Amino acid sequence: MIDRTSQIDTLLGADTGKPKLLVVDDQAINIQVIHQIFASDCQVFMATNGPQALAICKDNPPDLVLLDIVMPGIDGLEVCAKLQADEATRNIPVIFVTAHSDPAQETEGLLAGAVDFISKPVNPAVVRARVQTHLTLKFQSDLLRQLVFLDGLTGVYNRRHFDQQLDKEWGRATRNESALSVILIDVDNFKRYNDRYGHQSGDDCLKSIAKTLKKAMRRSADMVARYGGEEFVCILPDTSFQEAMFLAQHLEGQIRALEIPHEDSDISPWVTISLGVSARVESDDIGLTTATDQAELVSRADARLYRAKSSGRGQACCD
Ligand code: GH3
Ligand code: MG
Ligand code: MG
Repeated sequence: MIDRTSQIDTLLGADTGKPKLLVVDDQAINIQVIHQIFASDCQVFMATNGPQALAICKDNPPDLVLLDIVMPGIDGLEVCAKLQADEATRNIPVIFVTAHSDPAQETEGLLAGAVDFISKPVNPAVVRARVQTHLTLKFQSDLLRQLVFLDGLTGVYNRRHFDQQLDKEWGRATRNESALSVILIDVDNFKRYNDRYGHQSGDDCLKSIAKTLKKAMRRSADMVARYGGEEFVCILPDTSFQEAMFLAQHLEGQIRALEIPHEDSDISPWVTISLGVSARVESDDIGLTTATDQAELVSRADARLYRAKSSGRGQACCD
């Protein structure tokens, strides 16, 4: 059976696991048959009616849906059309599993957005082969969609995605009056690193740093992006200034602990980073300061990064 991990895991570093299959049929026995075919290769989710299927697709999107057409209430064709109409579920492939092999209905199903048809009673070998084909296509198109947002060298998110996410998170944080922090990160004396060890080693160094930063993120909403050449940035939703500062110091320690030799560094035998932290709302002796927009959030972090540099590098600065 198709293994999603082998295809995209290297690049995304994501914990992808087994493919998720949703089987929708109002007859429990039909679900059981399909469950038996895929139980060992896929995570199989089940729904016995249309609304249940739509709810699962929204909350925990499967990689593929095997959908009965004739069901009481919302039928399969309508479920498929609804999945297609919603941006969040549009990319989930649907295969109809139907007792009728009526060309008119088949056409209707394909027009509703289904990728394939399988007739009942299902033949296990056929259903496996078709599901495998469509899972492969699904993972390939997932990968292509993701590539647009990823930095080619390091595999973390790129600047474009960072800008989009920051807009989104800023909107969310201001609406909900929730915390939001960013950390700007710059590799210290990196020009000298390239000069001494060569550009290829410089690239490898950036890759190791990106990987370590990404691994150090704690919550699923936390993200790391490559901001520019040897600069990275983290967006930390629901994270206070103090928590972000704590994380920044942790990141500094993690990169130092990689012990990547840097004989021409002023400050350490190893590669180090400098970091600037800022939060949407910060408190100090005088009171609360709130950033007016996302640009100010980043420029404050940038100013602090600059201070971290001028105060000796290899540290996180919050003021
Ligand atoms: P500072 O401690 O003040 O940040 O000094 P620095 O040398 O790191 O800063 P500077 O901005 O002078 O130089 C950044 C260097 O990063 C220069 C550039 O060649 C290198 N760089 C930027 N992007 C890449 C990349 O993708 N690969 C490699 N190998 N080097 C890069
Ligand atoms: Mg720089
Ligand atoms: Mg630098």
